[in-house]
Amino acid sequence: MGSAGEHLTFPMMPEASKLNSQMKHRSCLKRRKRTRFAVGHLALGYILGAGSAKLSKTSFNIPAVLVLSIVPDVDILIPFLEHRGPTHSVIVMLIVFMPFFVVYHKKAVPYFLALIQHALIGDFITGGGVQLLWPLTTQSYGTGIAIRSQTNVGIEWIAFLAAVIMMIKTRDITKFFQTHKSNLLLSIPTFTTLLPTLASFPLGVPLWLVPPHIFYTIIFSIAIILAVPRAFKAS
Ligand SMILES: [Zn+2]
Repeated sequence: MGSAGEHLTFPMMPEASKLNSQMKHRSCLKRRKRTRFAVGHLALGYILGAGSAKLSKTSFNIPAVLVLSIVPDVDILIPFLEHRGPTHSVIVMLIVFMPFFVVYHKKAVPYFLALIQHALIGDFITGGGVQLLWPLTTQSYGTGIAIRSQTNVGIEWIAFLAAVIMMIKTRDITKFFQTHKSNLLLSIPTFTTLLPTLASFPLGVPLWLVPPHIFYTIIFSIAIILAVPRAFKAS
């Protein structure tokens, strides 16, 4: 029995350890690929949403635009979906938005831009590529700038500051401190992205990106707390 065991196990050992190290390497890559920061997405989503609404003289809902700016990352929560795959495809986004364009015309533009910038600008610039043209091709497109690099941190900060300045100038920032029922939508970025990122150990973001995360978390939390009594009153 001993020799049979040796015969079975000994030749497999190098294979098994090779497989094990390959699996470890793959899961490490997967974890790295799944890393994402909400700061830039939220900022660009707001800037494009607010900017296009102003240009087309339409109104827009800030929480809805902010949620759409991070919604493609829902693939992180779905086990069979590849991160930065189908949910990041501009083709899929166009198809999904077609009915909204038919019904709402230019009113749908701020929401569409908030959604599409996620993959087309944010994820394209950093993080190692995105499947923009799925299902036509599974090829990833991107500049290859590392998500934790100083370049990316700089880009995220510029987008963040631009969004905050724009929110202050347009007075949109005051809407987070009013009792709008739709502010409950902000629970989505707060509980799925911002808080888990800040609470992760080791820290899920470079130290320099912690202040913008805290800023968003605080104003979103205030908006949610103020919206809760309003939601109950309505029901
Ligand atoms: Zn993404």
